[in-house]
Amino acid sequence: MSVEKKYDVVIVGAGVAGATAASLISRMGFSVALIDAKPSYRVGDKPCGDAIGKHHFEEVGIKPPSGEELDGLVKGILLYSPSEEVVLTIEGEGYEINRVKFTQRLIRESIDNGAEYYDETNASAPIIENGFVRGVIATRMGEKLVFRSNVVIDASGSARSIVRRLPPEWPVVDPIKPEDTQIAYREIRILEEWIDKPEYIRIYVNQKIAPGGYWWNFPKSIARTVNVGLGVQNGKGYEHPRTYLYKYILTRPEFKNSKIVETSGALVPTRRPPYSMVWNGIMVIGDAAYTVNPVHGGGKGSGMLAAKAASIAFAKASEIGDYSAKGLWIMNKLYIDYYGAKQASLDIFRIFLQKLSDDDIEYGLRKRILKESDLYETSITGVIKNKKSVFDKLGRVIAGLGRPSLLAKLIVAAEYMDKMKKLYEEYPDTPEKLSEWMYRVNSLYESFERALKE
Ligand SMILES: Cc1cc2nc3c(=O)[nH]c(=O)nc-3n(C[C@H](O)[C@H](O)[C@H](O)COP(=O)(O)OP(=O)(O)OC[C@H]3O[C@@H](n4cnc5c(N)ncnc54)[C@H](O)[C@@H]3O)c2cc1C
Repeated sequence: MSVEKKYDVVIVGAGVAGATAASLISRMGFSVALIDAKPSYRVGDKPCGDAIGKHHFEEVGIKPPSGEELDGLVKGILLYSPSEEVVLTIEGEGYEINRVKFTQRLIRESIDNGAEYYDETNASAPIIENGFVRGVIATRMGEKLVFRSNVVIDASGSARSIVRRLPPEWPVVDPIKPEDTQIAYREIRILEEWIDKPEYIRIYVNQKIAPGGYWWNFPKSIARTVNVGLGVQNGKGYEHPRTYLYKYILTRPEFKNSKIVETSGALVPTRRPPYSMVWNGIMVIGDAAYTVNPVHGGGKGSGMLAAKAASIAFAKASEIGDYSAKGLWIMNKLYIDYYGAKQASLDIFRIFLQKLSDDDIEYGLRKRILKESDLYETSITGVIKNKKSVFDKLGRVIAGLGRPSLLAKLIVAAEYMDKMKKLYEEYPDTPEKLSEWMYRVNSLYESFERALKE
């Protein structure tokens, strides 16, 4: 026996991306089913550093966290060089959020708007009919449920529970390579002694401690609590990040006698968005669509932006009753405009950064090749604006002061970042032109890899 239900939209996954989409779409009066495999009290409990920029809430149109949703106010980032002798202060307001309380507020808002929420419900397969996704099959406490809908939104995080079961030739599938992901692990701990400047989150770049990634210490304002963890590039044979945490980080004096509150880790995609975030009857958002900043690995804000793009595109498709790839296509354009072009450009920067040694990074930060303001600007826009001063420095270095190859490669990376951003801004207007554009994207990556080797 199975129960069959019909909605305008079925959203698989009630993490921050899925819950935002449910809130925005139900707000417009559409019928929404939001389903998650977790029990209600655990939904939103995803391993995370919990840091998020203030600007994202204004961009998405969601009330920022307050009260018990807030674990601390952030004024900026302290960025440490490998030796920790150089510390850059990057100003920028944000929050340490209570991810569970915040996500559950979005779910409550959706329910208040009329959405139906199914916890402990596991979506096992898409329903595909005549080349369209028409819903999902799920189970809840041993009962089979059939959710039919005009559109399914896959917001199932790195599991990609629906999208990975679609025909592989659909461009929305676009699998990710292990080396374009990070394995991240963090612990929430109570320190014995509180630290200076708790309103600044700390990022430490050190290839020995966090190969291909970085480690962090994010203070929360509750009772000497910190979120401490690291990301390690996947697919390179490095050890699990927990090993590095215990070997190099928790042995530092500031963590002496600290007490564990929570532990866990997860995969983080750190790449460009998929070739398309939509196809016939399907949209994909959040980690399932790799909507994460490739350089710092933050994905909550950009996941919410993807949810906003999906909600607008869904509403437009409904006006004309066209839920095909063509009808939903505007989502790609919107996300690229909000975040995707910058994300793709930062993917080039990420590939460049992952090839640097600790000595290169130490040199770059010490000589302020990119200043604090440039780093902030680059992280917001995906463009290295200050190329002229980098060129000037290159001139001086070639004259005998330092490392010409590092600077020359930075110039190459900056140029390719611009090219990638421009290519994303030229994203095709219709699905028919997608293959040619995909070819250009792949060629640009290949050409960048060759240029870095020269
Ligand atoms: C250690 C670590 C630190 C991080 N630090 C930060 C940070 O400081 N700031 C930041 O912005 N980002 C950070 N990130 C990234 C951020 O956590 C994610 O980008 C973000 O939480 C993704 O949200 P999501 O809604 O896409 O996916 P998720 O939060 O993973 O939600 C997916 C949901 O789908 C459900 N689901 C999966 N499969 C099914 C199924 N078959 N049926 C039903 N439900 C299903 C899951 O139960 C889950 O609730 C970090 C990630 C890690 C791992």
